[in-house]
Amino acid sequence: MKGSIQIARLFGIPIQLHWSFFLILGWIVYIVLSRKGYWDWHSLGWTALSVFVLFFCVVLHELGHALTARRYGVKTRNIMLLPIGGLAVLERLPEKPKQELWVALAGPMVNVGLAVFFAPLLLLLSHEKFRQIFGFIIQQDGNFFARHILPWEWFIFGLVALNLIVALFNLLPAFPMDGGRILRAFLSLRLARIRATRIATFLGQVFAVILLATAWEYGNWAAGIIGVFVYFNATVEYRSAREEQLLERLSVKDAMRRQFSRLYPKDEMARAFQLLRQDKEHNFLVFDHWQNLQAVLSEETILKTAKNNRLDHKVEQWAGKEYDYVFEDESMKAAMLRMQKSGQSVLPVCNRYGRLTGLIDRMGVDHALRLQRQLKS
Ligand SMILES: [Zn+2]
Repeated sequence: MKGSIQIARLFGIPIQLHWSFFLILGWIVYIVLSRKGYWDWHSLGWTALSVFVLFFCVVLHELGHALTARRYGVKTRNIMLLPIGGLAVLERLPEKPKQELWVALAGPMVNVGLAVFFAPLLLLLSHEKFRQIFGFIIQQDGNFFARHILPWEWFIFGLVALNLIVALFNLLPAFPMDGGRILRAFLSLRLARIRATRIATFLGQVFAVILLATAWEYGNWAAGIIGVFVYFNATVEYRSAREEQLLERLSVKDAMRRQFSRLYPKDEMARAFQLLRQDKEHNFLVFDHWQNLQAVLSEETILKTAKNNRLDHKVEQWAGKEYDYVFEDESMKAAMLRMQKSGQSVLPVCNRYGRLTGLIDRMGVDHALRLQRQLKS
């Protein structure tokens, strides 16, 4: 995502902070100043610590998703921290509904675990304190610094309560919350995946509308932002499920290129760049003089050599010798998965007798998807 900085790397996964997170810091200062009326380092420190710990719990929640996904062979690109929560960006969705179920459950389970782990600390609080804390929460009578509840007492109460709230909020059965994924996984056991997604998306949009109505009614802008976020993500989720369905239905044959230019190991990269400039072909296959396939050459690699003034290099210095195959009759989804796994943006295509008949790349797939959409509309 644009405008984010990497703050850490845990288990090999980059943890990134979105710029809008800094708005939170401003907000903390504003809250403390407006409630106390002066610059109070003590309150400021405790509030900042609480926010820090809360977001650390969110990171652990996302790591729950990411590490469970890893068990099923799915990598996580990064974990993004936004003011409204975290997001583990998985390279792809787990294949089976059961795996999706576990990946989705793992996040909220981490928060339940944290709440249970820290629960014994609550014994430090007296009955009277609990009565005051709940009294404040229920009455909403404003100034919590004026009460006789000390910052550390708020802190341990919040540690347990907020983890439970994060777990419960995420378990709401509406996309894009984890509960929506759990629901879809359950429905997918019985229904077609696209129908299951439609239902979870619809519930997500209903939930978003409720949030927006609440925001309007009570002037709660935080609920409003979350409502908008939920609505858009539910829509995005449905669109990507529909695309996935299309990828499953179309075969490699529908997107492959049968006429293509051949490159040879001793060609200069300039020739590849020339072909790329003509805008018909983006990725290439490299053959030896007996016309046996040797390697693949992607657009990114060609552009990299052009940028670094390496166009006089030979193709063999840059072409990728490790690549995968796909068969004409396989689905486009299978082709996309193999591209992701092999790290190459192009695959040679074979017919059922194992003879090379063409190539497929992301451009071809996008083109086929666009045509299919236009045919339907
Ligand atoms: Zn989650």
